[in-house]
Order: sequence, then C-alpha cells, then structure tokens
Amino acid sequence: MKITLYQNEDQCCGCSACVNICPQNAISMIRNQKGFEYPAVDSTKCISCNACKNVCDFQNPKGSKNHILQAYAMQHKDKNVVFNSSSGGAFTAISDWVLLQGGTVYGAVFDNETFYVKHISAECSNERDSMRGSKYVQSSLGDVFKQIKKDLESGEKVLFSGTPCQCAGLCSYLHGHPENLVIVDLLCHGTPSPDLLVKHINRIEISSKKEIQDYRYRSKKYGYEHTHEALFTDGTKICNVDIKRILKFFVIGMRPSCFECKYTNRERYGDITIGDMWDAPKLVGITDHKGTSTVIVNTQLGKKIVDEIKDSCVLIPVDEKDIRQSALKERVKKPKNYEKFWNDYLKHGYDYVLEHYAPVTIKSWGLFTVQKCAHRLHLDVFLKK
Ligand SMILES: Cc1cc2nc3c(=O)[nH]c(=O)nc-3n(C[C@H](O)[C@H](O)[C@H](O)COP(=O)(O)OP(=O)(O)OC[C@H]3O[C@@H](n4cnc5c(N)ncnc54)[C@H](O)[C@@H]3O)c2cc1C
Repeated sequence: MKITLYQNEDQCCGCSACVNICPQNAISMIRNQKGFEYPAVDSTKCISCNACKNVCDFQNPKGSKNHILQAYAMQHKDKNVVFNSSSGGAFTAISDWVLLQGGTVYGAVFDNETFYVKHISAECSNERDSMRGSKYVQSSLGDVFKQIKKDLESGEKVLFSGTPCQCAGLCSYLHGHPENLVIVDLLCHGTPSPDLLVKHINRIEISSKKEIQDYRYRSKKYGYEHTHEALFTDGTKICNVDIKRILKFFVIGMRPSCFECKYTNRERYGDITIGDMWDAPKLVGITDHKGTSTVIVNTQLGKKIVDEIKDSCVLIPVDEKDIRQSALKERVKKPKNYEKFWNDYLKHGYDYVLEHYAPVTIKSWGLFTVQKCAHRLHLDVFLKK
C-alpha cells in the first residue's frame, strides 16, 4: 500500500524526521516549484512500517513539557560577536559552552555555491562562525538527525539550533531529549521559500555583473535593523534599499505550514529559546543600538548553561510577561493575496512579483536614507527614542 505522508501542503513543515527515520531509506526531500522541500516516498523501497507517519510531530503534536523558567536580555561582551550576529550574540555564547567541552554544534549556513540554506555540523569556533546570522528562509536538514543520533550515542555533547518545528521533529525522531543534547530553538515568525532568496541573489549578480560571495540579512552596518548586505567576490559590498526588497516576502513567501504552526506558544522544545529584543532600550536600558538577544531558559540544563556563560555577556533578568513576541503567542495569519502571489510567481517569475509586491517606493527609499544618515551622524539611538 502506498503511504501518503500529507494530504495538503500545509500539513508538512519539512523537518525531515520521516526521511531520517525510514529504515529503508525510501524517503527523500524534493523541492517543489515554489522552492519548498517535501518528502517523497519511493514505493518500490517502502515496507509500509509507518515509522514515517508515527514520527511526524507536526501532524500529531506531542507537546513539550518545558515551560519558561526565566527570561533575560543578553548582549555578548565581545563587540565583534555582536556585530556579526543577528541579535546580541546569544547563539555564540551558548555554542562556545558546548565547543569548549569538545562537543559538536549543528546550525544553519548558506551553501557557498547555491545560496540554499542547510544545516551542518561544526567542531570548532571557525566552522561555527558561519552559522551566525539569521538566514530567513527554510534550511534543509538532510540526514542531520541521523548524524546527531550517532554523536549522542557515542557520548558526545551536541547542540542543535533551529526553528521550533525542526527542534520538535528532532525530539520526536530521538523519542525524547537525551541528557547530552542541548536544544536552542528560535523565536520564529515562519520560514520563507529559499527559491525567493536564490532568485534575488541571481538578480543582484546580473545587475551588478559581479559574483556574490556572502549575503547578510542583518548587517549591522547602519545599526540594529534589517539592513541587507551583499559581499562580492572582488571584496566590494552593497547595502541599499533595492537589495532589501526581499524583506517584503517574509510573510507572503512563507511555507504554507507556517500558517498552521503548532509551536507559537510558551511550551518550548529548546532548553533555551533565543530571539531579538527590539525594545531593549526601554526594557533594560541597553541603548547602544547594536543588537540585544531575548534569552528564555526553559529547562534545568538551560539554566546551568546560562549560569556558566554569564561572565561573557551582559545578562539582565526580565519578566517574561514583558517579552513582546508574537512567536510565543500566535501563528502568523495567511495574507489574503497569498495564493495570488504564488500564482503570479509561477506564471510570471521572480522579477514580476518583485515589481508588483515589493516596489521601491519614495517612502522606502526615504526611510533607508534617513536610517543611513542617522547612523553616520550617531543619531540613530536618539531617533529610536
Ligand atoms: C526563519 C527565522 C525566523 C525568525 N523569526 C524571529 C521572530 O519572529 N522573532 C524573533 O525575535 N527572532 C526571530 N528569529 C531569530 C533571530 O533572527 C535571531 O536568530 C536570534 O535572535 C538569535 O540571534 P543571535 O544573535 O543570538 O544569533 P546568531 O549568531 O545570529 O545565530 C543565528 C542562529 O540561527 C540559526 N539559523 C540561522 N538561519 C536559520 C534557518 N534558516 N533555519 C534554522 N536556523 C537558522 C543558526 O544556526 C544560529 O543558531 C528568526 C530566525 C530565523 C532563522
């Protein structure tokens, strides 16, 4: 009998637990026309054991027993770390704790050739550094869950960082949360299609006639805002209002399952949950406009780690009720023109949707120019106030 893993696209979050658990290696992830990966079963290999159906947390959420114990505002004391991280560098501080004990860190990086995002492992800080910075598209997990299981069984300490659905998928695959595993989940609004980013990068390369080596969604060049930056192979960089137009696709370009997310609540799969703290100046008086992390401790292991890294960071306890994060409360609502956007994309291509759904307006151009000038004149902190 042929196994059907999902009826509708919004029933699969793409965590790859089914791919990793299949004893026959009969499942692979295939990218659809919109750029999202979905599992496909090779019926000639499938033995109908149903392991793939049983492991699916998204369709049968088991729920996490972890609840928020304490929340903090955190900023790494090393300014370079903060500059190269999306928020306050919490991920670096936590992963350093694991690396110092000889452990392995799993996180998301850009594939150098294609600019698709994938999870890899790192055993030293140099390798780990490429995981810094949020890549706001869905990452491919490949057989990472299998690798993690192997590492854990050999007694190694492992850190996995990812979106809440990826962390839930990992716990389901492992039938729990082994003691030597540290899970860091992100406060996540949802994951847009990787194809949109790849097309965006191609477009910049064509118009600039240069090859892109790195793309940063959250360059801190003009402060703690979404300032995209492309670094070319010839060493030059651009950072302008045109390249940050992809920001407009954050919601409309999201995976269908994000609108059905099961994890936008206070039951966390992470020992520690990390995210941005946009209102740090008001909440805890960190006014340098360089980036501050929200760090939420959910388990005793998370508590121990935060206790042991506190010397490397500025760490200020906050009342969890003061954390204004919709990712802890409710899933993002599907925009009314979601289907139209994707139909237009499939029919007319990327340039068309960019022009129609994310035009450069006088307002967007003006705001970016003000942001740039304010930063140059050191007025951005004042303007934020
Ligand atoms: C898709 C996505 C949506 C997010 N939505 C929100 C939100 O709504 N609100 C909020 O406060 N914060 C959100 N974040 C988290 C935020 O952008 C920062 O990643 C977080 O604050 C950690 O910052 P940092 O300075 O500690 O770490 P950094 O050093 O910047 O580390 C980034 C961490 O994110 C992981 N990561 C990067 N890209 C991906 C990816 N595509 N998939 C899985 N893991 C990835 C890396 O492995 C690393 O652990 C989101 C992140 C992602 C990737």
